[in-house]
Amino acid sequence: AHTLRSAAALADAGLIAPERLPALERVAAQYAVAITADMAALIEPANEADPIARQFLPQVAELISTPGEDPDPIGDLTHSPVGGIVHRYPDRVLLKPTHTCAVYCRFCFRREMVGPEGLKTLSPDELDAAFAYVAAHPEIWEVIITGGDPLVLSPRRIRDLGERLAKIDHVKVVRFHTRIPAVDPAAITAEMVEALKASGKAVYVALHANHARELTPAARAACGRIVDAGIPMVSQTVLLAGINDDADTLAALMRAFVETRIKPYYLHHHDHAPGTSHLRTGLAEGQALMRAMRGAVSGLAQPTYILDIPGGHGKVPVGPVYLDGPVVEDPQGGIHAYPPGKAV
Ligand SMILES: *Cc1c(COP(=O)(O)O)cnc(C)c1O
Ligand code: SF4
Repeated sequence: AHTLRSAAALADAGLIAPERLPALERVAAQYAVAITADMAALIEPANEADPIARQFLPQVAELISTPGEDPDPIGDLTHSPVGGIVHRYPDRVLLKPTHTCAVYCRFCFRREMVGPEGLKTLSPDELDAAFAYVAAHPEIWEVIITGGDPLVLSPRRIRDLGERLAKIDHVKVVRFHTRIPAVDPAAITAEMVEALKASGKAVYVALHANHARELTPAARAACGRIVDAGIPMVSQTVLLAGINDDADTLAALMRAFVETRIKPYYLHHHDHAPGTSHLRTGLAEGQALMRAMRGAVSGLAQPTYILDIPGGHGKVPVGPVYLDGPVVEDPQGGIHAYPPGKAV
């Protein structure tokens, strides 16, 4: 079972109708296409609204750009002092060793940078320069290895990254951002898990998943191998129209994370990446979903709802506000004085 990497391959596999192929080839020429066998197997081709299909199968709507969309929506390029490094917050950097992914998400905020036509995998010299930058900046406490998806690299390459970070004393925490444990669980071998730990630092893995169906038994087992090795996991989810923008779907996903020993971390408001308006929701809808989960679902299952302010101004929480001057609202909408004892 192989990854499908073109519109034609998707048509051959019966995932898109042959008559749609010419239009979708135009989309694929602009934005990379890939879906792993594990994810392709989850798609119900007869279901137009399938939440897995909506994440990975190209749609003609991607050719429509709307006002405010930006090829670099969160300002990666304006905060990149050397190739492969993004340094926007004082205590942490992104290190992007590769811009390849196992799947290409149709809503990706780095869609202009990832894929075969995107930014290249760092050369040995560029990687040296990136590590030299980290070594020269003692304020860097955490290195977030992202991309692309860093776990497309071999365990040998992952181990090499860790061993180089091991030599930088001021780096205390290493975080990997990946989709691989869910989209290609077989890649999480014992060798890969060992490689993730090579830095000897406090290592975290942040799993990106957007629908509970992605957490198949095989995916849960792959995450179990990571957590059992002493690596805590957190989650990242993008709020996406028609994929996870209803309270039951979102709660099922957050519960699936917690059942897998993954602490829900961020629910990202969708970035203004080009050609993604058909997948975007409003902030008010996101806040309503967060309200619906608060009070109804375990506190362990509550992510922080986050907006990455367009233009590279940083991430801020944008969840609902319960405390307003002298009153606080309860999860059912009741209003109460706070501090208690005063009339409202
Ligand atoms: C999102 C992001 C981070 C990580 O932010 P956290 O709030 O620590 O998860 C770090 N650097 C950049 C440039 C980012 O975009
Ligand atoms: S795996 Fe991440 S970087 Fe790759 S296409 Fe999906 S969202 Fe973008």
